[in-house]
Amino acid sequence: MSKVPEMQEVTSLFAARAVETELPPPPYAPAPLSRTQNPGFCEHAFSERNANTIPGGGRTGSQYFEPCTCGFVVSDSIPSSYKEGWPGWIDPSVNYRWESHIPPSNPTFASNKKSDLEEGGGERLGCWICYEYDGVWKGGMGVEEWYAHFRGHVRAEGYRVCRGKTGGMQRRRNCGVERCSKVHS
Ligand SMILES: [Zn+2]
Ligand SMILES: [Zn+2]
Ligand SMILES: [Zn+2]
Repeated sequence: MSKVPEMQEVTSLFAARAVETELPPPPYAPAPLSRTQNPGFCEHAFSERNANTIPGGGRTGSQYFEPCTCGFVVSDSIPSSYKEGWPGWIDPSVNYRWESHIPPSNPTFASNKKSDLEEGGGERLGCWICYEYDGVWKGGMGVEEWYAHFRGHVRAEGYRVCRGKTGGMQRRRNCGVERCSKVHS
């Protein structure tokens, strides 16, 4: 038989969670830095990230599913490993996945993990969180590895995702909080 917590206990749990979400992400920087150098993303992904900060900027939802001129095609299927043991899992959004892509022709970032190839059809993705908060270029990851890496940022390290009405990550241009420290697409 499982223990039913007292009402007071439940209330304080919710209170703790509410306070936690107000903290900026580690390393407790007030906001991500906008970096002007492209460390290795596709040039279109790199400019899209900026376009999504500007009112009216960025592609439409359906445009993300058209092939990029570099040959990249995004999928919206999320690996089951990402959701495993995480009932309130957060969708990083197709926009963010698209913004993270690396040209398939770039051999430096090729992954030979069989599961990556099966899951993502050969997508190679870099990490904006590592780059914008820490100035670190993580290099390319296959889809499964990329989701696991993102999950580590959110679940283990405490980075918070700025979420839109549908619960997924929202674009910076749709966020009303000035210098919001959460992660946007
Ligand atoms: Zn591209
Ligand atoms: Zn990262
Ligand atoms: Zn925000």
